[in-house]
Amino acid sequence: MRCRICSRPVKEKGFCSVHLKAFLNICEKFEVWEHALGVLWIDYLVNISKNSLTGEWAKEVAKHLIEDEGRNVKEK
Ligand SMILES: [Zn+2]
Repeated sequence: MRCRICSRPVKEKGFCSVHLKAFLNICEKFEVWEHALGVLWIDYLVNISKNSLTGEWAKEVAKHLIEDEGRNVKEK
């Protein structure tokens, strides 16, 4: 199986090792953000994808997750 974002072999959760690491990082930070600011998952992802301080791996993961959300939940 291939990573959902790149063509590297999957390690876990549909992500390769680098994207998995970025994904776990994103999830970890979200808990802090959600707790402190009450941000929504999707808003948090958009923020990451636009933040110039975010690493490329994390941006790719965030963009992918936003697309996933768009598929699952219809935009209002
Ligand atoms: Zn990957």
